[in-house]
Amino acid sequence: MSDAAVEVRGLRKSYGTLEAVRGIDLRVERGEVFALLGPNGAGKTTTVEILEGHRQRTAGEVSVLGHDPGRNERALKERVGIVLQQTGVELYLTVREVVELIAGYYPAPRAVGDVLALAGLTEQANQRVLRLSGGQRRRVDLAVAIVGDPELLFLDEPTTGFDPSARHQAWDTLRGLTSLGKTIFLTTHFMDEAQALADRVAVMAAGSIVATGTVDELVGSGQPVSRVRFRVPDGVLPPEALGARREASVWRLETATPTRILHELTSWAVDAAVELSELEVSRRSLEEIYLDLTGLPPEKGEAES
Ligand code: ATP
Repeated sequence: MSDAAVEVRGLRKSYGTLEAVRGIDLRVERGEVFALLGPNGAGKTTTVEILEGHRQRTAGEVSVLGHDPGRNERALKERVGIVLQQTGVELYLTVREVVELIAGYYPAPRAVGDVLALAGLTEQANQRVLRLSGGQRRRVDLAVAIVGDPELLFLDEPTTGFDPSARHQAWDTLRGLTSLGKTIFLTTHFMDEAQALADRVAVMAAGSIVATGTVDELVGSGQPVSRVRFRVPDGVLPPEALGARREASVWRLETATPTRILHELTSWAVDAAVELSELEVSRRSLEEIYLDLTGLPPEKGEAES
């Protein structure tokens, strides 16, 4: 059907009367990192599990590396790596034994030592999985997903439960895989994760795709709004005409004409000999766009907490 890594047209999935996925279209090119964002219950896991071949769709066309995942073909499974939300590996084996076991299922696996290094598990190689922390177990899941040297990797919330340094390490691992030409399809609640990794994102809410594009395209979409914030010394009030509002000791305003507003603000400050400390101009963040699109606040990534 397609030479894209993933192509989806009119995909629907119902659970009884609940329509969890309501006719979505997606296309992920080979070599791309694609992030599916959305709040709890949006339909992300349902979508990704249909792409993985773990759930049957109700309607629509789906192509993964040119195959229909609904047919459960081994030829496709060998080319795809999967990290599920729930870990499923044998707890009593050591990390190395788990990875060796899974390597045995594939025709041309990566070297186990390389996989452990890529997943940041060299030091834990001889520990039983049972003894690992939650974040370290997620890294075992990642190691299991990449040992078959897949062309396409599905990652469902890959860094949930990771500490900040483990998250950054996982991101470096994933970037390393893309530099080898692999395609990555991930779901995440974390805006900073999407921003750090994804070439393109799609935002899903209540079973529909509500926006898609690069992070820059999404942030630049809608009304171009700049945010201005500054401090002034106690007792000094900026001109009312600027429409700035005070939040604690900081003044903020939003404007579609930042050049004119900054000119007015700085001219006033120079004339009044007032220093605008911490003057900052920024654009809307992906987080704010997400909030507008889904009507829900995203979960906090480590960068924002
Ligand atoms: P989360 O971020 O919480 O993982 P999600 O975006 O992955 O959420 P899904 O797990 O795909 O969302 O769920 C979408 C909707 O479908 C939810 O309302 C959920 O309750 C429902 N659902 C998911 N799996 C089933 C199932 N096996 N049977 C019935 N309903 C289900």
